[in-house]
Amino acid sequence: MLSHVMPVYAPAPVVPVSGKGLWLYEANGTAWIDCIGGIATNALGHCHPALVDALALQSHALWHVSNALCIPGQAELGAKLTAASFAELAFFCNSGTEAVECAIKTARRYHAVRGAPERSGIIGFHGSFHGRTYAAINASGNPAYLEGCGPLLPGFDHFDIADRAGLAAAVARPTTAAVIVEPVQGEGGARALADADLLRLRQLCSAHGVLLIHDEVQCGMGRTGRLFAHQWVEGAAPDIMAIAKALGGGFPVGACLATADAASGMTAASHGSTFGGNPLAMAVAGAAFDIIADPDMLAHVRAMSEQLRSALETLRCQHPDIIVDVRGKGLLIGLKLAPNNRAFIAAARQHGLLLAGGGDNIVRLLPPLTVSAEEAEMIVERIAATCMAMICPAVA
Ligand SMILES: *Cc1c(COP(=O)(O)O)cnc(C)c1O
Repeated sequence: MLSHVMPVYAPAPVVPVSGKGLWLYEANGTAWIDCIGGIATNALGHCHPALVDALALQSHALWHVSNALCIPGQAELGAKLTAASFAELAFFCNSGTEAVECAIKTARRYHAVRGAPERSGIIGFHGSFHGRTYAAINASGNPAYLEGCGPLLPGFDHFDIADRAGLAAAVARPTTAAVIVEPVQGEGGARALADADLLRLRQLCSAHGVLLIHDEVQCGMGRTGRLFAHQWVEGAAPDIMAIAKALGGGFPVGACLATADAASGMTAASHGSTFGGNPLAMAVAGAAFDIIADPDMLAHVRAMSEQLRSALETLRCQHPDIIVDVRGKGLLIGLKLAPNNRAFIAAARQHGLLLAGGGDNIVRLLPPLTVSAEEAEMIVERIAATCMAMICPAVA
């Protein structure tokens, strides 16, 4: 079936035709609990009625006009996002990696318009993921994504977050433009940065006139139980932030947010996008924002996270040979496994549970923010059954 599609993916043998909330359904009626969630994208579950309505309504009015004409939805969503964050300006695009591209351009142009174009160095971290475009794979430095894609781009360096001395020296270089970091690493291993590390990065950048970029493409928009993950830590706000995934609740849309100062190089014609910020995306993302940013929703995320985490910790104690660590933040939950994570994901499918993979031999649970207490219990039951099956494959 995929014979004319470039074989860059290895999809599981599941063909959903419809979805509702946490659940996905195949044509033959098979029901799945979906903890992939479009990779942390369907934050309100599948086919949330408010998003279906917003999309349907807009689809009858207008889809696309390009940024050659005015799109009022951009101003509306921009106002919501900036009122709820450190930022004053937004650029809308279609994906996470484009939001990262814009963030890196914004940082470099900030220095260039101040007469310091040599300040172009971008500092990233081992274990990070920023997307698949050239700037993004170079910012992450993960050899798995760089291999065979030609020479490395100049101007990118990578450190362990624990390498304080190396990091401090690199940030202090007169050629450094920005630091890019995920407050909670997603793909790379569901690792939440320590509060102290986030604060240290903020202080280090401020001390040297270096811009701080947060990549909250995965951990932002409510996933951790705050609207943005860095909002757990007072005084840690970045200058520039990339968001996407949950922003459209499943509709493709991304944004680069920045303070007016950090965005001062983003002058007319310095950047752009044909599809970015189109009326359909703005309508759906606007509706998703109102639901996700509701304090009751964020409190619900924190409660469901606590319930899931404490149950998963209990499972880890019962199956220390299977589950080595429970990590992440909020409803971005990683289980570091002893057995191969791909084998665990396949075994979970035998129990009707769809899990996402990740670096460092983790599986990720990315349920919708709307997951109920009963559904969270079902998820844990199915993980428990999967653990049993990994121990005794014959009897399970
Ligand atoms: C998914 C992701 C990206 C890339 O997003 P795409 O929409 O796939 O381009 C970038 N950064 C982080 C942290 C992500 O999780």
